Formats: sequence, C-alpha cells, structure tokens
Amino acid sequence: MDYRDLPIRDDLRELTPYGAPQIDVPYPLNTNENPYGPPPELVADLARAVTEAATTLNRYPDRDATDLRKDLADYLGHGLTVGNVWAANGSNEILQQILQVFGGPGRSAIGFEPSYSMHRLIALATATEWISGLREGDYTLDAAKAVAAIERHQPDIVFLTSPNNPTGTAMDLDVIRAVVKAADGVGAMVVVDEAYFEFARPGTPSALTLLPEAVPDGKPGRLIVTRTMSKAFAMAGARVGYLAADPAVIDALLLVRLPYHLSALTQAAARTALKHVTALLGTVDAVKAQRDRIVGELTALGLHVVPSDANFVFFGVPGGDQKALWQRVLDHGVLIRDVGIPGMLRVTAGTESETTAFLDALKESLAVLD
Ligand code: PMP
Repeated sequence: MDYRDLPIRDDLRELTPYGAPQIDVPYPLNTNENPYGPPPELVADLARAVTEAATTLNRYPDRDATDLRKDLADYLGHGLTVGNVWAANGSNEILQQILQVFGGPGRSAIGFEPSYSMHRLIALATATEWISGLREGDYTLDAAKAVAAIERHQPDIVFLTSPNNPTGTAMDLDVIRAVVKAADGVGAMVVVDEAYFEFARPGTPSALTLLPEAVPDGKPGRLIVTRTMSKAFAMAGARVGYLAADPAVIDALLLVRLPYHLSALTQAAARTALKHVTALLGTVDAVKAQRDRIVGELTALGLHVVPSDANFVFFGVPGGDQKALWQRVLDHGVLIRDVGIPGMLRVTAGTESETTAFLDALKESLAVLD
C-alpha cells in the first residue's frame, strides 16, 4: 500500500514527513526538550486547573484565548499587550497560520539554511514556494547577502531563526534590522523564530525590541516574533506556541485559524504554567551549564564545535561519518540528532547525569571509530 496511489496534491508527492526518531532509549537527547519535568507544585496545580476546566468541557473554549494571551504578553514584557500576542498549538501551528495568511499558491518564503526544517516543510505544505538562502560557513548570517537575496527573490515571507536550530547561532540585532528594512522594501513579512531565546547567553537582544521600530509609514509593522512553551518552559507535551506582532497581524491570522483551535485544557495548562514561571525558568540555568559543559568538553577533545545560544550543541564529527557515530552513540542508549548535514551532529543538553552519559558514550564511540 502506498499513499502515492491516492489522489494527493501533486506538489506533496516529493515531500517526506517530519521524522525525528521517537525511539525508547535511556537518554533521549535529540529533540531539544527540557530534560527537567514540571516541578511537583506545578503538576499539582495543573491537575487542579485541568479538573476545573473539565467541568465546562461541554462548552467550546474561549476562541480568542484572551486570558492566556494577556498572561503571555505580561511574560514577554516590552510593553506588549493582549492585542500584540497570539497563541496556538505549538509554534509550529503559529508558523502554519502565518504561512496560510501570507504565503500560499503563487507566493514564496525564504529561509537561510541550515535552519529549522519545518519552515521549509510548512511552506511547502501550504503550497508556498521555498527559497533556500545561505548562511556563512560559521552559520552566522551576513546582513548584506541576506538583503541582496531578499531584493533578488522578492519573497512574501522571510524566516530568521535566532538562536538558530540546528546550529545554536544567535543573530545580531543589526542583521535582523537590515532584513526587516529590506523586507519592507519588497512588502514581505519577517518571522523571527525565537523558540530557544530563553537559553541565549547574557546580552543577546530579542527581536521583540524591534517591534516598535518596524512600523513603516504608519502602516502595520511586518515583523513577527515567534516563541514556544516547549523548550525553556518544559511544556513540549502541552503544545503551546505564541507570537508577538502588530495587532493587525493577529487580526489577519483570525482569517485562517480554526475556530476554537486551542482547547480549554491547553489554555488552562498554559496559564497555570505561566503562574510558575520563576520555577520553570529556574531550570534554564542548569541546562545552559550543561550546554556550556558540552561545548567545553567537545572543544577539549579537539572537535569542531559551533558556539551555542540554545539548549543544544552542533558539532563536527572527526572523519566526517556522522551516521556511523550517531549509531555508535545510540548503541550506548543515547539518542542524538543527525539533521542530514554531512559530518555534523546535534545533541540536546540534558541533566548533569544525562550529559555525562552522552559525553562518555561519545568518547567511547570516537575511540572505537578511531
Ligand atoms: N521553531 C524552532 C526553531 C524549533 O526548533 C522548534 C521545535 N523543535 C519549533 C519552532 C516548534 O516547536 P513547538 O511546535 O513545539 O512550539
């Protein structure tokens, strides 16, 4: 049986589904989750909130998720209010809604690769042409080249990812500012995907600071900053992503969002998690410490390591055979990620003991492959 025998859209025939392996292993360090489960007080509070929400499940939820958006605006600060914020089932759904409104047949989106592969996949799933822009050899983005690519291709949407996945590279505000200006010149929207922002090293500015600047000639600003509760907030299973933008952008997204897309249980869970923001974000420093430990140890081993502002590390494989090393490390019960870039692998920072398991597995695997 082959789904291609079904009358699926022609433009979907060459696609493959997103497929990070979900293998049951002792050390899953492949999808950039937070290794710490929600704290017990939050779990207890979640049970209470979900129980309360359950009593009204015969009714549809608040279609506009107003209370949650207000809480998210308070968390983000930067003078943002409920009208600037939108929420959905994971930032992937946010990205899909953006592409449904601003992309689609006859339109195009550009991203600078390597970057988060779902930008391309969601573009293609919404029949938006995908344009592959390039990063530099050290995975930074050259502002002049990005501007030239935007002017040449005249895309409808520009994707920037900072800190970038899979490389961990954060972007200078000047680069984002230059891209926003160029995008404005061709009438494009700019999406800055900040899924990993909370893990950035001190001094890394958020694109949120550019929102007030990004307003051309009294028209709505075209800058959209996306975030998620899946990483720093340790809530990947709850599926909550959000964005901040000009209120007109949110009005536009209402055109495509499914009615009642965010369940009452999800809204209750997300609002409860936000009440525990201090405890939840308390794990961020521990994760960053393990990330820095990985960077330090791999560098000491003589590996090529990309500086990281995220909760993962992208590194070069001696000899270049990343598939062989990935398998060896997996044989030790540690699942890391081969994103398909030759000679490179990505590992998520775990707890101290998970990180130790990875480092031990890596050292033993390198010795065997030597
Ligand atoms: N953006 C980036 C850069 C990501 O790496 C991810 C998840 N890996 C997402 C968005 C989507 O996250 P979620 O849908 O869980 O919010």
